[in-house]
Amino acid sequence: MIRIYNTLSKKKEEFVPLEEGKVSMYVCGPTVYNLIHIGNARPMIVFDTVRRYLEHRGYEVNFVSNFTDVDDKIIKKANEEGVSAEEISKRYIDECKKDMEGMNIKPATMHPLATQEIDGMIDMISALIEKDYAYAVNGTVYFRTRRFAEYGKLSHKNLEDLQAGNRSLLVSGEEEKEDSLDFVLWKPKKEGEPYWVSPWGDGRPGWHIECSVMSRKYLGEQIDIHGGGEDLVFPHHENEIAQSEACSGKIFSRYWMHNAFLNIDNRKMSKSLGNFFTVREISEKYDLQILRFFMLNAHYRSPLNFSADLMESSKNALERIQTAVDRLKYMAEHASETELTAEEAEILKGADAFEKDFDRSMEDDFNTADAIAAVFDLVKYANTHGKEGVSRALAEGLGDRIRGLCDILGLAAEKQEVLLDEEIEALIEERQAARKEKNFARADEIRNLLLEKGILLEDTREGVKWKRA
Ligand code: AMP
Ligand code: ZN
Repeated sequence: MIRIYNTLSKKKEEFVPLEEGKVSMYVCGPTVYNLIHIGNARPMIVFDTVRRYLEHRGYEVNFVSNFTDVDDKIIKKANEEGVSAEEISKRYIDECKKDMEGMNIKPATMHPLATQEIDGMIDMISALIEKDYAYAVNGTVYFRTRRFAEYGKLSHKNLEDLQAGNRSLLVSGEEEKEDSLDFVLWKPKKEGEPYWVSPWGDGRPGWHIECSVMSRKYLGEQIDIHGGGEDLVFPHHENEIAQSEACSGKIFSRYWMHNAFLNIDNRKMSKSLGNFFTVREISEKYDLQILRFFMLNAHYRSPLNFSADLMESSKNALERIQTAVDRLKYMAEHASETELTAEEAEILKGADAFEKDFDRSMEDDFNTADAIAAVFDLVKYANTHGKEGVSRALAEGLGDRIRGLCDILGLAAEKQEVLLDEEIEALIEERQAARKEKNFARADEIRNLLLEKGILLEDTREGVKWKRA
């Protein structure tokens, strides 16, 4: 039985999907105006692992995660560079997908873009106005928060406290709201910003409405799991619930899961604080598998402090697993016996216990930290019993089990011969030097070597560009 901590009830609950054998899951994706930082990577890794575990348990998972491609920050960046907002968002969606691949995050079943779903947003806002849950004033549409009686149920906030906090926060232009708790569904266009035509005038949607619309369109009115970082609980997810449930009259998501922050010096890593590392920067020093391991080595609801030391110990730990698997592979290839002896059959059966521990941990609200501990117990067991002279069947059997558990976590149990960015750049420099000396044989050799590792070179006027195939 899988148990999930539900932010709604603040309790671990037995997971029962709406439809047997199927899971619908929506995870709020990043706003794409820059390379993602490793804080943004935490929910990606966490929910990819939840998905992988559910798939391992036989569920068919429909996993939807959006890209927010219309937002003040994207517009600001576009204006700074003198390009369109679309160019900025497209560029960073592509970069984000490369980072995701490096971290072994499976592409979602569907990655909708906010700008492609404006019609759906206009429809939902119109429906909310019709039901009296929203009202338009001077080109802005607001959600009438107090009319949704359950507002605050996710964040466990009380409307009166919120109201007291809000009164001093009212920004100019918001006097037109009926109530300070009301939030924006549609806002009028400003000079130099992208806009869409709507019944309330030219403008663009507020942020919250996009997730309600996309999850309804791709997953239906009711979904099983909704996820994101804990900063999204209020107001974003609270508002998503208000919009979706006011519209459908049904419970929107049954389980709400939130990961804790990735911190640095015990403060949230964030773009606005400037205390962040991008995933790309980390990839210059480490295989991103190590970043994934580092994240999964903590429970997703525990704050996690990033440090160079912890990355180093993650590197060593992952190598310990990979070395054991390599050793077993070598022994399988060099074994003189093929079949299991009776004693070996017992040894292999003894390894079941670690798989059970692993499952018990994952079933308990996806406790990846304990699941990884079970993998290490298995590695230790395999190192003890996978001695020289064992049969091929035992060496393979033990290796397969380690690999199997790592697979569920999306971790590579075998060393991948990946070239780090800095190694690639050093080789490119060497190739340039070889060309200068007219040593074309060496230059071609380097190009081919990179090609073998899936690195494509392109000679451009601005110099050599490279990308991973
Ligand atoms: P944003 O691009 O800011 O909307 O964030 C995208 C996702 O990353 C959201 O689910 C955030 O909650 C999450 N996130 C942002 N910063 C952190 C952090 N330091 N630790 C964990 N999750 C974060
Ligand atoms: Zn969202």
